[in-house]
Amino acid sequence: MELFEHNYWLTTAEFPKPQARPLPSRMDVAVIGAGFTGLSAARTLAKRGAKVAVLESETIGWGASSRNGGMVLTGMKLGVNKLISMYGRELTRRMYAASLETIDCVERIIREETIDCDFSRCGHLEVACKQKHFDDYARQAEVISREFDHQLRVVQKNDLCAEIGSGIYYGGMVDEMSAGLNPARYVAGLGRAAIKAGAEIFEHTRVESLQHGSHQGDAGWKLITSRGELWARDVFVGTSGYTGEATPALRMKIIPIGSFIITTEILPEGLAHELSPRNRMIYDSKNYLYYYRLTPDRRILFGGRAAFFPETDQTIRRSAEILRRGMIDVYPQLADAKIDYVWGGTLDFAFDIMPHAGQVDGIYYALGYAGHGVAMATWQGQKMAELIAGEKPGNPFIGIPFPGAPLGMYNGNPWFLPFAGAWYKFLDWVS
Ligand SMILES: Cc1cc2nc3c(=O)[nH]c(=O)nc-3n(C[C@H](O)[C@H](O)[C@H](O)COP(=O)(O)OP(=O)(O)OC[C@H]3O[C@@H](n4cnc5c(N)ncnc54)[C@H](O)[C@@H]3O)c2cc1C
Repeated sequence: MELFEHNYWLTTAEFPKPQARPLPSRMDVAVIGAGFTGLSAARTLAKRGAKVAVLESETIGWGASSRNGGMVLTGMKLGVNKLISMYGRELTRRMYAASLETIDCVERIIREETIDCDFSRCGHLEVACKQKHFDDYARQAEVISREFDHQLRVVQKNDLCAEIGSGIYYGGMVDEMSAGLNPARYVAGLGRAAIKAGAEIFEHTRVESLQHGSHQGDAGWKLITSRGELWARDVFVGTSGYTGEATPALRMKIIPIGSFIITTEILPEGLAHELSPRNRMIYDSKNYLYYYRLTPDRRILFGGRAAFFPETDQTIRRSAEILRRGMIDVYPQLADAKIDYVWGGTLDFAFDIMPHAGQVDGIYYALGYAGHGVAMATWQGQKMAELIAGEKPGNPFIGIPFPGAPLGMYNGNPWFLPFAGAWYKFLDWVS
């Protein structure tokens, strides 16, 4: 079989196809973006009786939500000691508790909406690329147990073969609470659930700009789109790494970073079991990290930041070989395995590598998931919808400082990505 430059997950999923119809003139809430964030918000708002329009410039799940590794992870991108130093113990406790709640939130929605997406509480395994990284695992596990009453299991190098069929790591750390799923099936199911709840989804409808004003005596927003205008009382932005010119205040705070994935051919059962005996979601301890897992049909899915720039034909093609070499370093057993698919997607990094939610210039938003978005985006969509509906949901990410670039040296065009890539490689070398 030839190598397809195509997202493997899309070959396994069927997406709802909302009928193309004229935009309504007026809605209660306009949601921009039909990924986990936007669809989860639309579902929650529609269930509360709001008239909701989801405006998506491409199709349901077109963005990161169908392209990711399907790892439903506890915690955040930053380590707990860093979080405590930034926010103090109390706020970090609430953030960590929220990160655990995000997994339950995903599981609950999947159960309530009977979404067939291979959700499984298989746990995740972080593997240490250096002895120093491994030594830090015991400290992290101790802090997480003491401060957040959540148990992680440190795995010594000698015992690691029960978790992974690779000899290159210095040990690992397991979190049994994390889960795995098929992201394309999940986002398609969320789309179906939002429609069932009463939300209207408009595909191929790019929001070009937003103007605050009043319509028939009510304050609200005029959304100018590629398919006409729409008035809405409130606007919620869930555009993640694809945030663009329609929301300049957010665009200046989010760095779009490429992440790329290959999948192998279907592997024999014995080999698949040897590579990942407990079917964990696995990632390593580097900044420039690799993440990998078995797919439900027994391929190895292997991802990483093979290029820092977002996906283009060129970056995707180059990534296939870079990732294949990385995969064979981890798993020499796969030297002859054929690569069937390669694709890329764009991550959304805030300058402080934290998720952010709240309001800017009167517009609601949630983004900045930094590669930890499957669970957090679903949860943020739900929490922000509750807020828009007038409820008071606990959301510790609202109101934390949302920094822009130092000295304002960023207007949404990430000119510094090649330097950032080199910097992260340097950090991995010295850390
Ligand atoms: C390769 C890759 C691997 C990843 N792996 C994992 C993982 O294993 N685990 C994990 O937790 N996270 C992972 N992530 C991150 C996770 O996928 C994202 O955080 C999450 O999908 C974000 O969801 P979202 O709904 O906020 O954004 P998206 O799914 O990106 O959706 C945003 C949507 O907004 C639309 N849009 C943008 N601008 C406009 C506009 N002006 N008008 C209309 N529509 C617009 C876009 O077309 C897009 O469809 C990964 C990401 C990538 C790219």
